[in-house]
Amino acid sequence: MSERPRLTVLSGPSGVGKSTVVAHMRKQFPEVWLSVSATTRHPRPGERDGVQYHFVDNEQFDKLVANGELLEWAVFAGNRYGTPRQAVVEKLDKGEPVLLEIDLQGARQVKESMPEAQLVFLAPPSWEELVRRLTGRGTESQDVIDERLAAARIELAAEAEFDTTLVNTSVEQVAAELLALLGVA
Ligand code: 5GP
Repeated sequence: MSERPRLTVLSGPSGVGKSTVVAHMRKQFPEVWLSVSATTRHPRPGERDGVQYHFVDNEQFDKLVANGELLEWAVFAGNRYGTPRQAVVEKLDKGEPVLLEIDLQGARQVKESMPEAQLVFLAPPSWEELVRRLTGRGTESQDVIDERLAAARIELAAEAEFDTTLVNTSVEQVAAELLALLGVA
């Protein structure tokens, strides 16, 4: 068997279901390590600091950037998001698989600095389905939804830059495919 890339980046349009797929996968295989990003976005109901994200203010995020503590970072729908470098490097040094769930701009930066990373694009079954999912989440204002849909249109065109595409028709199916790509199952 060929050696698996140890850094896997899961990306795709907002609302496509990246976090649902990852949550499903980690329920079955809690040992799959997922980087916890820093963000300036406010927590949604039920989100906890240090679990879904490290919630930081603008000043704290500026410091992370200035100190070179982020592997990549991007502005998405008016908020900043970034991957803390140290935890990722420590895992990779131990030879353990690392999964990042980040936006397209971040995925490009990772590919640039770590060409050995495997980039996985999660695509919606259709544009209509993506609109339905983004609108139906019920946690964002119409302005925010419109902004995310505009970003999604651009992001869908980026599929060709990725090593692999998974179509999110069923959470179970995609989670299994992702596990296989991670070399876990
Ligand atoms: P949300 O606000 O819905 O949690 O995330 C918005 C977008 O930011 C999603 O596409 C998510 O994958 C992306 N994202 C989350 N963490 C990071 C990160 O550390 N870096 C980058 N570039 N994008 C991220």
